[in-house]
Amino acid sequence: MSGKNWLLHIPRFPDNLPWAILEIAKILDEKNQPYEILEFNHQLYKNFFNTPDWQSIDELGVMEKSKFPLFKVARLFYKCIKNVKNTDRILISLFSTESRSWALFACALIRKQKKCKIILGGNGIYAPGETKLESEWADMVIDMNLADHIFYNQADETLIDALDKNFNIPTKIYKPTTKFPNIGFIPDHIARENLDLKRIDDPIYFREDLDHTAMAGELAGIEWAHKIHFTMGCVKRCTFCDVHGQQNWVMRPAQTVVDEIKHYYEQGVRYFFLADSTVNGSNREWLKFLTLFADFQSTLDDPIHWNANYAIKPKNRNPQEQFELMRKSNFTISIGMDHCSDQVLAHMGKKYTWDDIEWTVDQLESENVYIRDALWIVGYPTETQDDLLEYNKLFELLKNKRHTFVSNTCNVCYIPRNSSLLDIIDMDWNNPNKWVSQNGKLTKEIRLERKKWVDEHLNALGPMKYKYTDSYRRAIR
Ligand code: SF4
Repeated sequence: MSGKNWLLHIPRFPDNLPWAILEIAKILDEKNQPYEILEFNHQLYKNFFNTPDWQSIDELGVMEKSKFPLFKVARLFYKCIKNVKNTDRILISLFSTESRSWALFACALIRKQKKCKIILGGNGIYAPGETKLESEWADMVIDMNLADHIFYNQADETLIDALDKNFNIPTKIYKPTTKFPNIGFIPDHIARENLDLKRIDDPIYFREDLDHTAMAGELAGIEWAHKIHFTMGCVKRCTFCDVHGQQNWVMRPAQTVVDEIKHYYEQGVRYFFLADSTVNGSNREWLKFLTLFADFQSTLDDPIHWNANYAIKPKNRNPQEQFELMRKSNFTISIGMDHCSDQVLAHMGKKYTWDDIEWTVDQLESENVYIRDALWIVGYPTETQDDLLEYNKLFELLKNKRHTFVSNTCNVCYIPRNSSLLDIIDMDWNNPNKWVSQNGKLTKEIRLERKKWVDEHLNALGPMKYKYTDSYRRAIR
């Protein structure tokens, strides 16, 4: 095939190279296709972080008004793509819907100066709730002739197929995920060349919130960690979440996950993040994985630190032996606890209650397993003022378990397409953050007020090691 493949890393912040780009690099490498990674995100960091322009760059596509330094950033972008030839291809992965503004920006600039092909893929193609070939945003991009091909899912198969066909492929391609994709085991020469672990030591990335002595190393390392998948999709169907709609639930054998960890360990890697939505979707496989991993850790002088997203379950359906295994495998946990009100939890489709949350935290505390980040939601459509006040239980709990909780993040509820919640709210898809409950009592302003109230109480408890500074962006999607 003629031409070279350029893997363009458009922003999502912070400055760590997404694992998905390395996965694509591996596919190209195995097919003997020339490729190069264009680290535009890193260039932006190097040139603008801690400058007066940074805030507006960070806010592109998020805030309604901003003083984005268009000409300076465009000049930097053109420098970044200067070696791209007209016979080449630029592949862009949209990590989330927040990457869309950057994708449009990049595509428009490429089109103005180059005749190369542009190929888009990644989770950000879909708005929350969209599936298959349904993406209003992608349709708009095609109408504007800003991309040549759009991959809607399953990049590991779609890209190989496209390479085999010399990119003589349809504009829109959707391949449903029915089995665990063929990813992982990135060879050393790809991971090491491109994942510059030294970035973490750069003083410009110093974060004042890394002040938890017990965790600073682990947390910092995990931000730059190697990513591994054990599962994809989710077994649950929470009303406010679109993970289960985007991707079928698939998992791979626990032994292959541990084998992949060993593969990277031999390359000198000590930090891992299992980038799953629900790492413990299957109790049996989760226990098997923890057992294998704890056995492996017990053989190591230089331990591994790792983190993953864990789902709370009712205590009678949650095996107690996992907590000891978590300690033995040196796990720090991230948990979507979601709400303190049982009424809200039940409406969300959760099977657990506040009692189960307390029980889980007790188990983690007894094994000295840190909760790296607990995620909470306010402004759920049925949430009353009394439900909100149930958060006082959390503030009390945190006073006693301060050591176990490293950080908490409170997000405002958003509503995905196809959600059952659409029956009880009024939604304008032109402005989805402004949905209103049908009794008119829950507006965007009230949701943000509620988040502020929870954040103030959390901050009053003392410095959180992992304090997000971009809270507005996280609140509004
Ligand atoms: S458990 Fe988490 S990932 Fe799964 S559907 Fe619920 S919120 Fe989404």
